[in-house]
Amino acid sequence: MQNVEIFRELIKSPGKIVITTHHKPDADALGSSLALARLLKKKGHQVQVISPTDYPDFLSWMEGNDDVLIFEGNETKSSEIVNEADLVCCLDFSSLDRLNDLGEIVAASHSKKVLIDHHLDPDDFADFTYWTTDAAATAELVYQLIAELGEDELIDRAIAECLYAGIMTDTGNFKHPNTTEHVFEVCAQLIRHGADTAHVAKLIYDSNTVNRIKFLGFALSERLTILPEYNTAYFAVSQEDLKRFNSQTGDTEGLVNYALSITGIKFAALIIDRSVMIKISFRSIGDFSVSEFSRSHFEGGGHKNAAGGKSELSLEATVSKFEKLLEKYKDQLSNHIKTYA
Ligand code: 5GP
Ligand code: MN
Repeated sequence: MQNVEIFRELIKSPGKIVITTHHKPDADALGSSLALARLLKKKGHQVQVISPTDYPDFLSWMEGNDDVLIFEGNETKSSEIVNEADLVCCLDFSSLDRLNDLGEIVAASHSKKVLIDHHLDPDDFADFTYWTTDAAATAELVYQLIAELGEDELIDRAIAECLYAGIMTDTGNFKHPNTTEHVFEVCAQLIRHGADTAHVAKLIYDSNTVNRIKFLGFALSERLTILPEYNTAYFAVSQEDLKRFNSQTGDTEGLVNYALSITGIKFAALIIDRSVMIKISFRSIGDFSVSEFSRSHFEGGGHKNAAGGKSELSLEATVSKFEKLLEKYKDQLSNHIKTYA
């Protein structure tokens, strides 16, 4: 991680700052972005958060949500703002292609760039990189950066809750092995700054629509395949399935974890036909690196135990490619206690 003095210099005098994050932002991506935006506004900067795409409704409570510019549909305006920016802060992604077409605009802009992230293999494009895979969440890094700058007195309830939401979700509600002592220390500070943890948990986890819950039931009973010989379970969801339950952005988030929650399963996938492409979420327990698996076979990446990728094939062909690949990884995957009953 680079010295924060570089960042201090970059934000020394009030300027135009763009904060952007990955395609279909999750709570960590959006929470980190809105928290940093609010802090930099308090420091006198003019800040615009730009998201490449829309995101789930259960994130709309975050302070600053109403001012987020969605690149998709606002390409010209977004491009102008990026080109006029003094600084572009890239949060919660490691490679610019995660911004879709916005990535090229950011790459071409003459602004200074900042990268704050915890994904594997970061691109080398930033003037200041605040990066480590030791962080559970980008929100943890944003807190740490603010604290190192000595600006933590500027953290109010809104900032604290955006950051808390990022940490809570990226640790799988404090279940994953990335839930370190430091995570709890940061959360303790966020509570001190006013975060209402029960309220945030309710907004994120218990704000389901009836359609989403019914879709979950349907997917669990009709779309889950278990392959005991590979300790693997996956969902394959078609466009028709999504239409039938009027699926909204975010409705499939977390579904893959149900496959991984089955005793004995160490590799889980959620394969969804999103019509423009097949989008895949991968999760694992233990040493099997889904990031490597996704990078090698599905143009993706992420973290060792949580990654994503895509496929240009049909849903059926993607499922069959996935199943065939498992044979190659059988040794790595089969060494596990089998209790599926
Ligand atoms: P999810 O499955 O929740 O969409 O993503 C899991 C993790 O993998 C997240 O950290 C996400 O940023 C990353 N990820 C998801 N899709 C992609 C992708 O297509 N490419 C890369 N490099 N990372 C991805
Ligand atoms: Mn994250």
